[in-house]
Amino acid sequence: MPTETFEFQVEARQLLQMMIHSIYSNKDVFLRELISNASDALDKLRLEALRDESLDADVSDLHIAIETDGEARTLTVRDNGIGMSHDEVVQLIGTIANSGTAKFLQELKQAKDAATAEGLIGQFGVGFYAAFMVADEVTLVTRRAGQSEGTRWSSTGEGTYTVEPVEDAPQGTAVTLRLKPVDQEDQLFDYTSRWKIKEIVKRYSDFITWPVRMAPEAPADGERAEDAEDGKAAAEPETLNSMKALWARSRDEVSDEEYHELYKHISHDWSDPLETLRMQAEGTFEYQALLFLPSRAPQDLFAREHRRGVQLYVKRVFIMDHCEALLPEYLRFVKGVVDAQDLSLNVSREILQQDRQIQLMHRRLVKKVLSTIKEMMAQRPENYATFWREFGRVVKEGLLSDHENRDAILRIASFPTTHDQEKPATLQQYVERMKEGQEHIYFMTGESRTAIENSPHMEAFRDKGYEVLLLTDPVDEVWVETVPEFDGKELRSIAKGEADLAKEESEEDKAERAKRQEDFAGLLSWMTERLGDEVKEVRLSSRLTVSPACVVSDTDDVTPALRNMYRAMGQ
Ligand code: ADP
Ligand code: MG
Repeated sequence: MPTETFEFQVEARQLLQMMIHSIYSNKDVFLRELISNASDALDKLRLEALRDESLDADVSDLHIAIETDGEARTLTVRDNGIGMSHDEVVQLIGTIANSGTAKFLQELKQAKDAATAEGLIGQFGVGFYAAFMVADEVTLVTRRAGQSEGTRWSSTGEGTYTVEPVEDAPQGTAVTLRLKPVDQEDQLFDYTSRWKIKEIVKRYSDFITWPVRMAPEAPADGERAEDAEDGKAAAEPETLNSMKALWARSRDEVSDEEYHELYKHISHDWSDPLETLRMQAEGTFEYQALLFLPSRAPQDLFAREHRRGVQLYVKRVFIMDHCEALLPEYLRFVKGVVDAQDLSLNVSREILQQDRQIQLMHRRLVKKVLSTIKEMMAQRPENYATFWREFGRVVKEGLLSDHENRDAILRIASFPTTHDQEKPATLQQYVERMKEGQEHIYFMTGESRTAIENSPHMEAFRDKGYEVLLLTDPVDEVWVETVPEFDGKELRSIAKGEADLAKEESEEDKAERAKRQEDFAGLLSWMTERLGDEVKEVRLSSRLTVSPACVVSDTDDVTPALRNMYRAMGQ
């Protein structure tokens, strides 16, 4: 096959332009990204070899090697992992799978200043393309384990890339960067410098479970002879990372930065996590876990293709990404690692779903996440506010699916309310503010805060000074139907018949209302008759103060918004 030239997909091209004219100031992270990819490739190969015994692959010395050439100004990151086929190279390196890319680029274009742009890139992460921050040409040579032919991919990042077959490529992938000239002002370092490489690996990739090696310092000319006599010892490559599993080390041995780097490797996110959770269970069933709450929701959190779940290790050996069995759907944003001591290395997803130990871990992990959110609420309110803004919609799904923890979820939830335009309220705060004589927690669901506030249903409540929760997330329509009460107080929709304030009015008001009811009896029965099948009943209402009439549903009827939602789902 001859050399083929391809054009980058539009989004990929835009992203590359950003990298080439890099607005991202911390360029060192390109190496972290390449090592992260190499590590993933080694994990994948080890797993595939475990599952498929006929796979013709060498798994005897899996590692990552970094090679530099000061004269040619090149840097190579090599792994002997899974590699890529020709089609995979075109697909994975030429296009960007992330469904949020277009939106991200739009936001980036509108970014007012460099700091905002940098923040956006940090939240998005760019993986392999980060190489173009420091290189003016990138070449990748790869051969998929089990296949005989290799592929060379090369690009300067300017619109096109070439792909051609390679005869004698070793198994795995080698990414070679032709480095841009060093530029102090641009903070562009000499990435062929040994100490610089060592420093970056130590800082960002120390926990990587595969050895990251570098050939020994090339001896100066005169020393060559002595070295040869020294024999093998002098030629031994140096391993730059400690490979220590962070989750197995005690808390005071590990810095926050180290935890954050592990998070970035696992999540492919460039920003720090909001919270780091550590768990160590000893005894008959031993496991360790490091969980992270991200600081921002990924674009695809509600997309069907979103892959959830933490990484599962067994006795320090990586078993799988996206282990769904360990955490419920409504905590799908949680990232992290769980390392179990007593599971078989051959566990499959099917077995995991049934495994009693896994179910036990699942329960404990959920409790830990929920209690951490509660603790944030009390001790780090700003973090909690960020968390709830980003993930509250997802957590509320648990009110439907997780009966065991329903109360715990209600206690960590907060909702927009009529009490404060800006600040959401917890149910606890709502209850503490309830007016004299108010028995219930009132809420209304709807599409937006404004829509609800302009609803005629609000009038009487505003008049009485009763606080109303303004529930605008689609999931709110559903959970309010199944959660009857909080702290002994019923949750009531103000758009439904039973929320009628009549019960809470004074004796005087009651007498007045009875009289009015009599006065208008004729009109009401006439109206009920005239409207016929359109309504069940026409009632005199105490809930309106300005509007002449409004439509309410019976307590057991579905709300209009829920009806719309069912319709949208085709039911
Ligand atoms: P991400 O790692 O977030 O998926 P990247 O841009 O870093 O995104 O990499 C894109 C894809 O290219 C990876 O998902 C992987 O499939 C493939 N890839 C990158 N580097 C390697 C490598 N060293 N070996 C095998 N596949 C790789
Ligand atoms: Mg990557």
